[in-house]
Amino acid sequence: MATDYDAPRRNEADELGEDSLEELKARRAEAQSSSVDVDETDFNESLELPGADLSNEELTVRVLPKQEDEFTCSRCFLVQHRSRLAASRGNENYCRDCAA
Ligand SMILES: [Zn+2]
Repeated sequence: MATDYDAPRRNEADELGEDSLEELKARRAEAQSSSVDVDETDFNESLELPGADLSNEELTVRVLPKQEDEFTCSRCFLVQHRSRLAASRGNENYCRDCAA
């Protein structure tokens, strides 16, 4: 009977589900506790702060110019290698993911 095969599978799925649920709960608790630490108004103010900190970010986030053999997908706006170019219309290029 089909139910005989389904039963053990369901149990496995339930156990996995509970594990990931516990993990999710733990992560959610962490996220909540950390977001409680950040006062929203403080966060907004720090975003508007000019200057000194931005120079550090330029060092960590390097923006490379688009390479000759790359294109920017017109739908997902990711710069991708030309081998992933699936379709182009005029100036619009689409990667394999977006053209599908
Ligand atoms: Zn794309």
